[in-house]
Amino acid sequence: MLRISRKAESFTESVIREMNRLAVAAGAVSLAQGFPDFACPPELKAAAAEAVAADHNQYAITFGAKPLRDAIAAKTAHFHPGWTVDPDAQISVVNGATEGMIAAMLGLLDPGDEVIVFEPFYENYGPDAILTGAIPRYVTLHEPDWRIDPEELRAAVTPRTRAIVVNSPHNPTGKVFTREELDLVADLCREHDLIAFTDDIYQHLVYEGEHIPLATLPGMAERTVSIDSMSKTYSVTGWRVGWVIASPELTVGVRRVHDFLTVGAAAPLQHAAVAGLTMADAYYDALLAGYRERRDVLLPTLEAAGFRVHRPAGAYYAMTDIRDLTDEDDVAFARRLIADPGVATVPGSSFFSRPELGRTKLRFAFPKRLETLRAAADRLASLAPAARV
Ligand code: GLN
Repeated sequence: MLRISRKAESFTESVIREMNRLAVAAGAVSLAQGFPDFACPPELKAAAAEAVAADHNQYAITFGAKPLRDAIAAKTAHFHPGWTVDPDAQISVVNGATEGMIAAMLGLLDPGDEVIVFEPFYENYGPDAILTGAIPRYVTLHEPDWRIDPEELRAAVTPRTRAIVVNSPHNPTGKVFTREELDLVADLCREHDLIAFTDDIYQHLVYEGEHIPLATLPGMAERTVSIDSMSKTYSVTGWRVGWVIASPELTVGVRRVHDFLTVGAAAPLQHAAVAGLTMADAYYDALLAGYRERRDVLLPTLEAAGFRVHRPAGAYYAMTDIRDLTDEDDVAFARRLIADPGVATVPGSSFFSRPELGRTKLRFAFPKRLETLRAAADRLASLAPAARV
Protein backbone atom coordinates (compact mmCIF):
# COMPACT_ATOMS: atom_id res chain seq x y z
CA MET A 1 0.00 0.00 0.00
CA LEU A 2 1.21 3.50 -0.76
CA ARG A 3 1.83 5.52 2.37
CA ILE A 4 3.76 8.45 3.72
CA SER A 5 6.99 7.81 5.60
CA ARG A 6 7.04 6.94 9.28
CA LYS A 7 8.96 10.12 9.98
CA ALA A 8 6.40 12.27 8.15
CA GLU A 9 3.65 10.39 9.95
CA SER A 10 5.15 11.16 13.34
CA PHE A 11 4.33 14.88 13.32
CA THR A 12 1.51 17.06 12.05
CA GLU A 13 1.23 20.19 9.95
CA SER A 14 2.58 23.26 11.73
CA VAL A 15 -0.33 24.60 13.79
CA ILE A 16 1.10 28.12 13.45
CA ARG A 17 0.94 28.00 9.68
CA GLU A 18 -2.44 26.22 9.74
CA MET A 19 -3.93 28.97 11.91
CA ASN A 20 -2.66 31.55 9.51
CA ARG A 21 -4.33 29.78 6.61
CA LEU A 22 -7.62 29.59 8.51
CA ALA A 23 -7.36 33.29 9.34
CA VAL A 24 -6.89 34.24 5.71
CA ALA A 25 -9.82 32.04 4.66
CA ALA A 26 -12.10 33.56 7.35
CA GLY A 27 -10.97 37.16 6.86
CA ALA A 28 -9.88 37.30 10.51
CA VAL A 29 -7.29 39.69 11.92
CA SER A 30 -4.28 37.41 12.20
CA LEU A 31 -2.10 37.56 15.25
CA ALA A 32 -1.20 33.91 14.59
CA GLN A 33 1.96 33.39 12.52
CA GLY A 34 4.70 35.81 13.50
CA PHE A 35 5.46 37.98 10.49
CA PRO A 36 5.15 41.73 9.92
CA ASP A 37 2.13 43.18 8.14
CA PHE A 38 4.14 46.35 7.49
CA ALA A 39 6.72 47.08 4.80
CA CYS A 40 10.41 46.25 5.09
CA PRO A 41 12.91 49.14 5.01
CA PRO A 42 12.88 50.87 1.60
CA GLU A 43 16.67 50.43 1.34
CA LEU A 44 16.13 46.69 1.23
CA LYS A 45 13.50 46.88 -1.50
CA ALA A 46 15.83 49.03 -3.59
CA ALA A 47 18.78 46.72 -2.93
CA ALA A 48 16.76 43.68 -4.03
CA ALA A 49 15.74 45.36 -7.28
CA GLU A 50 19.31 46.47 -7.88
CA ALA A 51 20.71 43.00 -7.24
CA VAL A 52 18.43 41.51 -9.89
CA ALA A 53 19.31 44.31 -12.33
CA ALA A 54 23.02 43.76 -11.62
CA ASP A 55 22.64 40.14 -12.77
CA HIS A 56 23.07 38.39 -9.44
CA ASN A 57 20.66 35.83 -10.79
CA GLN A 58 22.69 32.63 -10.87
CA TYR A 59 23.67 30.43 -7.95
CA ALA A 60 25.78 32.09 -5.31
CA ILE A 61 28.53 30.03 -3.70
CA THR A 62 26.52 27.32 -1.94
CA PHE A 63 27.48 28.44 1.55
CA GLY A 64 26.80 32.09 0.80
CA ALA A 65 27.86 35.06 -1.34
CA LYS A 66 31.13 36.45 -0.05
CA PRO A 67 29.86 40.03 0.51
CA LEU A 68 27.04 38.71 2.67
CA ARG A 69 29.27 36.46 4.76
CA ASP A 70 31.64 39.39 5.27
CA ALA A 71 28.73 41.60 6.34
CA ILE A 72 27.46 38.96 8.80
CA ALA A 73 30.94 38.66 10.35
CA ALA A 74 31.24 42.45 10.64
CA LYS A 75 27.77 42.86 12.18
CA THR A 76 28.45 40.05 14.65
CA ALA A 77 31.69 41.71 15.76
CA HIS A 78 29.96 45.10 15.99
CA PHE A 79 27.18 43.94 18.31
CA HIS A 80 29.22 41.36 20.21
CA PRO A 81 32.79 42.67 20.48
CA GLY A 82 35.20 39.85 21.12
CA TRP A 83 33.18 37.27 19.21
CA THR A 84 35.37 36.87 16.15
CA VAL A 85 33.98 34.87 13.30
CA ASP A 86 35.85 33.88 10.14
CA PRO A 87 33.44 34.49 7.24
CA ASP A 88 35.18 31.91 5.05
CA ALA A 89 35.31 29.04 7.52
CA GLN A 90 32.53 29.70 10.03
CA ILE A 91 29.52 31.22 8.29
CA SER A 92 27.04 29.36 6.09
CA VAL A 93 24.17 31.22 4.46
CA VAL A 94 20.98 29.15 4.35
CA ASN A 95 17.27 29.45 3.43
CA GLY A 96 16.15 31.09 6.62
CA ALA A 97 16.74 30.01 10.21
CA THR A 98 14.36 27.13 9.49
CA GLU A 99 16.84 25.53 7.12
CA GLY A 100 19.69 26.56 9.39
CA MET A 101 18.34 24.53 12.30
CA ILE A 102 17.58 21.39 10.34
CA ALA A 103 20.80 21.52 8.31
CA ALA A 104 22.71 21.90 11.57
CA MET A 105 20.97 18.94 13.19
CA LEU A 106 21.33 16.76 10.09
CA GLY A 107 24.96 17.73 9.72
CA LEU A 108 25.95 17.24 13.34
CA LEU A 109 23.73 14.58 14.93
CA ASP A 110 23.27 10.87 14.37
CA PRO A 111 20.15 8.72 14.65
CA GLY A 112 19.54 7.83 18.28
CA ASP A 113 21.28 10.93 19.64
CA GLU A 114 19.24 12.87 22.16
CA VAL A 115 18.59 16.62 21.96
CA ILE A 116 17.30 18.66 24.88
CA VAL A 117 14.54 21.11 23.97
CA PHE A 118 12.92 23.49 26.45
CA GLU A 119 9.12 23.57 26.39
CA PRO A 120 7.10 25.53 25.54
CA PHE A 121 9.06 25.58 22.27
CA TYR A 122 8.91 26.93 18.77
CA GLU A 123 7.31 24.02 17.01
CA ASN A 124 10.03 23.28 14.43
CA TYR A 125 12.64 21.87 16.80
CA GLY A 126 10.86 18.57 17.51
CA PRO A 127 10.26 17.70 13.82
CA ASP A 128 13.83 18.83 13.03
CA ALA A 129 15.14 16.31 15.55
CA ILE A 130 12.79 13.57 14.32
CA LEU A 131 13.77 14.11 10.67
CA THR A 132 17.36 13.75 11.82
CA GLY A 133 16.53 10.48 13.58
CA ALA A 134 17.43 12.13 16.88
CA ILE A 135 15.25 11.99 19.98
CA PRO A 136 13.98 15.25 21.51
CA ARG A 137 14.01 15.31 25.35
CA TYR A 138 11.83 18.06 26.74
CA VAL A 139 12.59 20.16 29.78
CA THR A 140 9.75 22.36 31.03
CA LEU A 141 10.15 26.08 31.61
CA HIS A 142 8.13 26.91 34.72
CA GLU A 143 5.58 29.68 34.99
CA PRO A 144 5.19 32.46 35.85
CA ASP A 145 8.66 33.52 34.67
CA TRP A 146 9.39 30.42 32.60
CA ARG A 147 12.22 29.41 34.91
CA ILE A 148 14.58 26.51 34.26
CA ASP A 149 14.70 24.00 37.13
CA PRO A 150 18.42 23.17 37.25
CA GLU A 151 17.72 19.70 38.64
CA GLU A 152 15.27 18.89 35.88
CA LEU A 153 17.73 20.11 33.28
CA ARG A 154 20.54 18.00 34.70
CA ALA A 155 18.26 14.97 34.95
CA ALA A 156 17.45 15.25 31.25
CA VAL A 157 21.08 14.58 30.30
CA THR A 158 21.82 10.92 29.55
CA PRO A 159 24.85 9.21 28.02
CA ARG A 160 23.15 9.65 24.63
CA THR A 161 22.59 13.40 24.93
CA ARG A 162 24.51 15.21 22.20
CA ALA A 163 22.91 18.64 22.02
CA ILE A 164 20.63 21.27 23.47
CA VAL A 165 18.49 23.88 21.72
CA VAL A 166 18.40 27.39 23.21
CA ASN A 167 16.09 30.08 21.84
CA SER A 168 16.51 33.45 23.54
CA PRO A 169 14.59 35.74 23.30
CA HIS A 170 12.12 32.92 23.36
CA ASN A 171 9.19 32.03 21.15
CA PRO A 172 6.42 31.69 22.37
CA THR A 173 6.95 33.14 25.88
CA GLY A 174 9.07 36.24 25.25
CA LYS A 175 11.49 35.08 27.94
CA VAL A 176 15.03 36.45 27.73
CA PHE A 177 17.41 33.95 29.32
CA THR A 178 19.52 35.42 32.12
CA ARG A 179 23.29 35.13 32.35
CA GLU A 180 22.84 32.65 35.24
CA GLU A 181 20.61 30.43 33.11
CA LEU A 182 22.98 30.58 30.17
CA ASP A 183 25.89 29.78 32.51
CA LEU A 184 23.98 26.73 33.68
CA VAL A 185 23.46 25.59 30.08
CA ALA A 186 27.09 26.31 29.22
CA ASP A 187 28.32 24.33 32.27
CA LEU A 188 26.26 21.38 31.16
CA CYS A 189 27.52 21.63 27.57
CA ARG A 190 31.16 21.71 28.66
CA GLU A 191 30.71 18.96 31.24
CA HIS A 192 28.94 16.55 28.87
CA ASP A 193 30.57 17.66 25.61
CA LEU A 194 27.28 18.84 24.09
CA ILE A 195 26.60 21.03 21.08
CA ALA A 196 24.31 24.04 21.66
CA PHE A 197 22.04 25.01 18.80
CA THR A 198 20.99 28.59 19.46
CA ASP A 199 18.09 30.22 17.65
CA ASP A 200 19.00 33.90 17.95
CA ILE A 201 16.43 35.22 15.53
CA TYR A 202 14.89 37.69 18.03
CA GLN A 203 18.24 38.99 19.30
CA HIS A 204 17.43 42.61 18.45
CA LEU A 205 14.01 42.50 20.15
CA VAL A 206 14.86 42.74 23.84
CA TYR A 207 12.69 45.06 25.96
CA GLU A 208 14.09 44.07 29.35
CA GLY A 209 17.37 42.31 30.00
CA GLU A 210 20.13 41.62 27.54
CA HIS A 211 20.77 39.21 24.68
CA ILE A 212 23.89 37.25 25.54
CA PRO A 213 24.96 34.93 22.72
CA LEU A 214 25.80 31.56 24.24
CA ALA A 215 28.82 31.41 21.91
CA THR A 216 30.40 34.29 23.85
CA LEU A 217 30.55 32.38 27.15
CA PRO A 218 33.88 30.74 28.06
CA GLY A 219 34.58 27.60 26.04
CA MET A 220 31.29 27.87 24.14
CA ALA A 221 32.37 29.26 20.73
CA GLU A 222 33.73 25.86 19.69
CA ARG A 223 30.50 24.03 20.57
CA THR A 224 27.78 26.56 19.76
CA VAL A 225 25.94 26.62 16.46
CA SER A 226 24.32 30.07 16.25
CA ILE A 227 21.42 30.49 13.88
CA ASP A 228 19.95 33.81 12.81
CA SER A 229 18.27 35.34 9.79
CA MET A 230 17.14 38.47 8.01
CA SER A 231 13.48 37.69 8.70
CA LYS A 232 12.67 39.34 12.00
CA THR A 233 15.43 41.95 12.25
CA TYR A 234 14.75 43.43 8.82
CA SER A 235 11.06 42.51 8.37
CA VAL A 236 11.63 40.24 5.37
CA THR A 237 10.33 36.83 6.45
CA GLY A 238 9.62 35.92 2.83
CA TRP A 239 13.19 36.36 1.68
CA ARG A 240 14.34 33.15 3.33
CA VAL A 241 17.89 34.31 3.95
CA GLY A 242 19.48 33.10 7.15
CA TRP A 243 22.86 31.99 8.40
CA VAL A 244 24.63 29.56 10.68
CA ILE A 245 27.77 30.47 12.63
CA ALA A 246 29.83 27.58 14.00
CA SER A 247 33.43 26.45 14.48
CA PRO A 248 35.26 25.52 11.27
CA GLU A 249 34.98 21.83 12.25
CA LEU A 250 31.21 21.91 12.82
CA THR A 251 30.67 24.16 9.80
CA VAL A 252 31.86 21.31 7.55
CA GLY A 253 28.86 19.21 8.62
CA VAL A 254 26.36 22.06 8.24
CA ARG A 255 27.61 23.00 4.76
CA ARG A 256 27.66 19.42 3.54
CA VAL A 257 23.96 18.98 4.34
CA HIS A 258 22.96 22.47 3.17
CA ASP A 259 24.61 21.86 -0.21
CA PHE A 260 22.39 18.86 -0.96
CA LEU A 261 19.29 20.15 0.80
CA THR A 262 18.88 23.47 -1.01
CA VAL A 263 22.17 24.35 -2.83
CA GLY A 264 21.76 27.94 -1.74
CA ALA A 265 19.52 30.79 -0.67
CA ALA A 266 18.21 33.19 -3.35
CA ALA A 267 21.32 34.84 -4.82
CA PRO A 268 19.96 38.35 -5.48
CA LEU A 269 18.47 38.50 -1.99
CA GLN A 270 21.80 37.48 -0.49
CA HIS A 271 23.39 40.49 -2.16
CA ALA A 272 20.50 42.73 -1.13
CA ALA A 273 20.75 41.53 2.48
CA VAL A 274 24.06 43.36 2.81
CA ALA A 275 22.10 46.63 2.72
CA GLY A 276 20.34 45.52 5.91
CA LEU A 277 23.37 44.22 7.78
CA THR A 278 25.29 47.44 7.20
CA MET A 279 22.56 49.74 8.54
CA ALA A 280 23.49 52.16 11.31
CA ASP A 281 22.70 51.49 14.97
CA ALA A 282 19.77 53.92 14.76
CA TYR A 283 17.93 51.36 12.63
CA TYR A 284 17.98 48.79 15.44
CA ASP A 285 16.97 51.39 18.01
CA ALA A 286 13.96 52.36 15.89
CA LEU A 287 13.04 48.72 15.29
CA LEU A 288 13.02 48.03 19.00
CA ALA A 289 11.10 51.21 19.83
CA GLY A 290 8.43 50.24 17.31
CA TYR A 291 8.06 46.79 18.82
CA ARG A 292 7.99 48.15 22.34
CA GLU A 293 5.10 50.40 21.32
CA ARG A 294 3.25 47.48 19.72
CA ARG A 295 3.74 45.43 22.86
CA ASP A 296 2.53 48.25 25.03
CA VAL A 297 -0.58 48.75 22.89
CA LEU A 298 -1.50 45.07 22.72
CA LEU A 299 -0.91 43.90 26.29
CA PRO A 300 -3.42 46.12 28.12
CA THR A 301 -6.10 45.35 25.54
CA LEU A 302 -5.61 41.62 26.09
CA GLU A 303 -5.87 42.11 29.83
CA ALA A 304 -8.98 44.25 29.41
CA ALA A 305 -10.52 41.49 27.29
CA GLY A 306 -10.02 39.01 30.12
CA PHE A 307 -6.78 37.24 29.20
CA ARG A 308 -4.09 36.65 31.81
CA VAL A 309 -0.95 37.91 30.09
CA HIS A 310 2.67 36.89 30.46
CA ARG A 311 4.53 40.11 29.82
CA PRO A 312 7.22 39.37 27.21
CA ALA A 313 10.74 40.70 27.90
CA GLY A 314 11.73 39.99 24.31
CA ALA A 315 10.66 38.66 20.88
CA TYR A 316 7.21 39.59 19.55
CA TYR A 317 4.73 37.22 21.12
CA ALA A 318 2.48 37.38 24.15
CA MET A 319 1.59 34.09 25.82
CA THR A 320 -1.75 34.30 27.57
CA ASP A 321 -3.96 32.19 29.78
CA ILE A 322 -7.63 31.84 28.87
CA ARG A 323 -9.04 30.21 32.00
CA ASP A 324 -10.96 33.34 33.07
CA LEU A 325 -12.66 33.50 29.67
CA THR A 326 -13.72 30.00 28.77
CA ASP A 327 -13.94 26.36 29.75
CA GLU A 328 -13.12 25.34 26.20
CA ASP A 329 -9.65 24.03 25.45
CA ASP A 330 -7.12 26.13 23.58
CA VAL A 331 -7.81 24.62 20.16
CA ALA A 332 -11.60 24.96 20.36
CA PHE A 333 -11.30 28.51 21.71
CA ALA A 334 -8.75 29.54 19.04
CA ARG A 335 -11.01 28.19 16.31
CA ARG A 336 -14.01 29.98 17.76
CA LEU A 337 -12.09 33.28 17.95
CA ILE A 338 -11.23 33.05 14.26
CA ALA A 339 -14.93 32.82 13.43
CA ASP A 340 -16.16 35.26 16.09
CA PRO A 341 -14.96 37.92 16.86
CA GLY A 342 -12.52 37.25 14.00
CA VAL A 343 -9.03 37.17 15.53
CA ALA A 344 -6.52 34.42 14.85
CA THR A 345 -4.03 33.23 17.48
CA VAL A 346 -2.05 30.05 18.04
CA PRO A 347 -3.34 27.45 20.54
CA GLY A 348 -0.93 26.93 23.43
CA SER A 349 -0.84 23.14 23.16
CA SER A 350 1.13 23.37 19.92
CA PHE A 351 4.12 24.61 21.91
CA PHE A 352 4.26 21.61 24.25
CA SER A 353 5.16 17.94 23.89
CA ARG A 354 2.45 17.25 26.47
CA PRO A 355 -0.52 19.15 25.00
CA GLU A 356 -2.22 19.34 28.41
CA LEU A 357 0.40 21.88 29.50
CA GLY A 358 -0.90 24.33 26.90
CA ARG A 359 -4.63 23.65 27.12
CA THR A 360 -5.42 26.97 28.78
CA LYS A 361 -3.05 29.05 26.66
CA LEU A 362 -3.09 31.13 23.50
CA ARG A 363 -0.20 32.93 21.83
CA PHE A 364 -0.67 36.34 20.24
CA ALA A 365 1.94 37.63 17.74
CA PHE A 366 2.36 41.41 17.55
CA PRO A 367 4.63 42.21 14.57
CA LYS A 368 1.70 44.19 13.22
CA ARG A 369 0.72 47.76 12.41
CA LEU A 370 -0.86 49.59 15.33
CA GLU A 371 -4.11 49.77 13.37
CA THR A 372 -4.08 45.96 13.05
CA LEU A 373 -3.49 45.59 16.77
CA ARG A 374 -6.27 48.07 17.52
CA ALA A 375 -8.64 46.25 15.16
CA ALA A 376 -7.88 43.02 17.01
CA ALA A 377 -8.39 44.79 20.35
CA ASP A 378 -11.78 46.14 19.27
CA ARG A 379 -12.91 42.67 18.29
CA LEU A 380 -11.55 41.02 21.44
CA ALA A 381 -13.27 43.59 23.67
CA SER A 382 -16.52 41.68 23.10
CA LEU A 383 -15.06 38.76 25.08
CA ALA A 384 -14.57 40.74 28.24
CA PRO A 385 -16.79 39.55 31.09
CA ALA A 386 -18.31 43.06 31.38
CA ALA A 387 -19.23 43.02 27.70
CA ARG A 388 -21.02 39.71 28.05
CA VAL A 389 -23.69 40.74 30.58
N1 GLN B 1 8.41 32.16 13.89
C1 GLN B 1 7.08 32.36 13.38
C2 GLN B 1 6.04 32.03 14.42
O1 GLN B 1 6.33 31.42 15.40
C3 GLN B 1 6.77 31.50 12.20
C4 GLN B 1 7.93 31.15 11.39
C5 GLN B 1 7.52 30.22 10.29
O2 GLN B 1 6.35 29.88 10.15
N2 GLN B 1 8.49 29.84 9.53
O3 GLN B 1 4.91 32.36 14.22
